[in-house]
Amino acid sequence: MADGLETESRKLLVRLRDLMAEEAAGQARLDRIVSLTADSMGTEVCSIYLFRDTDTLELCATEGLKAEAVHQTRMKLGEGLVGRVARTGRTVNAADAPSVRGFRYMPETGEEAYSSFLGVPIQRLGEKLGVLVVQSREKREFTSDEIYALEVVAMVLAEMTELGAFVGEGAALKARHQQAEVFRGTTAQEGTAEGHVWLHEPRVVITNPVADDPERESQRLTEAVERLRVSVDDMLDGAKGGDTEQMQVLEAYRMFANSKGWMRRMEEDIQRGLSAEAAVEKEQSSARARLTQVPDAYLRERLHDLDDLSNRLLRILTGQGSATGAEMPADPILVARNIGPAELLDYGRALKGIVLEDGSVGSHAAIVARALAIPLVVHASRITNEALNGDHMMVDGDQGIVHLRPDETIVAAFRDKMAMQEEAQKRYATIRDKPAETLCGAQIALAMNAGLMADLPSLESSGAEGVGLFRTELQFLVRNQMPRRSELSALYGRVLDAAQGKRVVFRTLDIGSDKVLPYMKPNDEPNPALGWRAIRVGLDKPGVMRMQLQALIRAANGRPLSVMFPFVAQYDEFRAARAEVDKAMERERILGHALPASLEIGAMLETPSLAYAPQRFFEEVDFLSIGGNDLKQFFFAADRENERVRRRYDTLNLSFLTFLEGIVKRCAETGTRLSFCGEDAGRPIEALCLAAIGFRSLSMRPASIGPVKHLLRRSRLADVRAAMDEARSRGDQSVREAVMDYLRNR
Ligand code: PEP
Ligand code: MG
Repeated sequence: MADGLETESRKLLVRLRDLMAEEAAGQARLDRIVSLTADSMGTEVCSIYLFRDTDTLELCATEGLKAEAVHQTRMKLGEGLVGRVARTGRTVNAADAPSVRGFRYMPETGEEAYSSFLGVPIQRLGEKLGVLVVQSREKREFTSDEIYALEVVAMVLAEMTELGAFVGEGAALKARHQQAEVFRGTTAQEGTAEGHVWLHEPRVVITNPVADDPERESQRLTEAVERLRVSVDDMLDGAKGGDTEQMQVLEAYRMFANSKGWMRRMEEDIQRGLSAEAAVEKEQSSARARLTQVPDAYLRERLHDLDDLSNRLLRILTGQGSATGAEMPADPILVARNIGPAELLDYGRALKGIVLEDGSVGSHAAIVARALAIPLVVHASRITNEALNGDHMMVDGDQGIVHLRPDETIVAAFRDKMAMQEEAQKRYATIRDKPAETLCGAQIALAMNAGLMADLPSLESSGAEGVGLFRTELQFLVRNQMPRRSELSALYGRVLDAAQGKRVVFRTLDIGSDKVLPYMKPNDEPNPALGWRAIRVGLDKPGVMRMQLQALIRAANGRPLSVMFPFVAQYDEFRAARAEVDKAMERERILGHALPASLEIGAMLETPSLAYAPQRFFEEVDFLSIGGNDLKQFFFAADRENERVRRRYDTLNLSFLTFLEGIVKRCAETGTRLSFCGEDAGRPIEALCLAAIGFRSLSMRPASIGPVKHLLRRSRLADVRAAMDEARSRGDQSVREAVMDYLRNR
């Protein structure tokens, strides 16, 4: 790069900065910027277009085009060359713009006089704000140095917009982060919440995009990168021998931290007049822009790593830690790109809601959110860019919709909905101590699912008869190392204490598939859901299972104990698992520990194969619980984690119900106790149909017990059955419509 140009670009930036320090605000400020830029770049025209709403751009300031067009000329995203820059996020450089395909002439601007066109996106960290354009009469392509200079101006503009420098005039000039926005994500935990945003990782605010002294900035950058390298090396040393995935991420960090290209580009930016932090952010922005265009999942992950690393570097440079001194609001809604289960547990029930930009329905964080009954929406794309600490937010976990800075009508409608839900809760409270008995006298036992000590108080408040499924994997997932037997036994003991004699069914460790322990070597399996998981791991590597069984027996300490094995696919597996329990009991007896007063050993029926197990299995097993989440995914061959297919097949599909009926029948023949503990048990219509085909025991999230009981108490199973049979004889695929009709018309 020529020294002269470097100085030119720096001069332009310094003039820009001085301008920002002046009193002029809003429109006046924008007008000064375009005139200054046109002057510095030696072009006749310079214009700024900003987004009015998500797909309309508005001419907000111009030097050279007709002044009357300002705030009048608008274009759609993708329309004309300006719209193209905005849509693609890429620079357009044309010597003869009118001859370029897609050029659209705006007569009111008087731009026919100009041939050459250079447009660059105004964007910040992948968030599109507008377009900056220069035009000149002379037919010529702009040089790479000129492009660069304009890009840097655009970046400074983006920073200023972020800082609210243009507050005040016209919709497109409003500061960012003031407009109401709606995000459509995916439900991972139902429920509604109103509160204020609490960013898990607050973004770093840059107040000085322009700097006078490149030598000093370069020095600051070098020192910060050095500190970053040392901290990455320390993290790597600390992680040695641990989780390979974490090591991979850290190795990627190290690679980036030592990357000459990354350093060189940031150095160049500094030489052109940016401050060290602005240079880091410019690199981060272009990485984010690439992120949206890379289809390869692995590469995307690495770009995410670079993004994280840039954040670390920015924190070092600005001295802003994760703790920015901001105070958590009293009604926090956590907003993050992603969050681990342990971090989420740290926040605990203080959170009113959670919104994640990535995340997945089956992630560990989702499991924790579900256990804590906190509404969770995942896949809320761009949320971490748009939400600021303290912003008002409403989370509709039922629909997977998030309202950021909602306007009054939304607030009113949302509050109505919440009030109705509260009313319903009150109604449910009145039947809490009443049995789930249908009008025809059938008694359905309703138990709750749990996974944390913190769930146990719900046993009382929900009116559950016991814990039908205690998922034990959470204690394993949230730690960095394998929990000790004594820790587990103490925890299980406390769970039994809290249950005060009500039955608690402990499910042994269900890991593998999506649930990978941070301290266990992950297996590269082509189909983890069909892979080495749950009881398969327990039987092949029995160490952990033995430890867990011992912990359970000791926790029972003379009280009744119920143990259930997950994912049993055939009789032999159950027999082998049961033999492990027998061995554990024998060992404990020899050691002189108190044995459980009674012991029942059950299995989860989560694969279709087990429904056809030999008669002896049904006679031997003390109880069966249908894991509908897994069973359904295998029955329909539709991945429960895959958004594209997971809702495709209705649980009330007659093929599935017929299959379940077969299981009910077999259990009735052998007198085997049967229950259903998948998520569907907690949906009132589904629960009613399950009762109608013969289920007398259901286990669900505590919050579902009220609604399910309420419906059961108002229904006659024979009538439901008749509606289902009618649907069957009509050849319906699902009984849903028929049952809904019956409920509406009764
Ligand atoms: C199920 O599969 O239905 C179940 C209850 O187990 P999990 O959701 O933990 O796999
Ligand atoms: Mg399961």
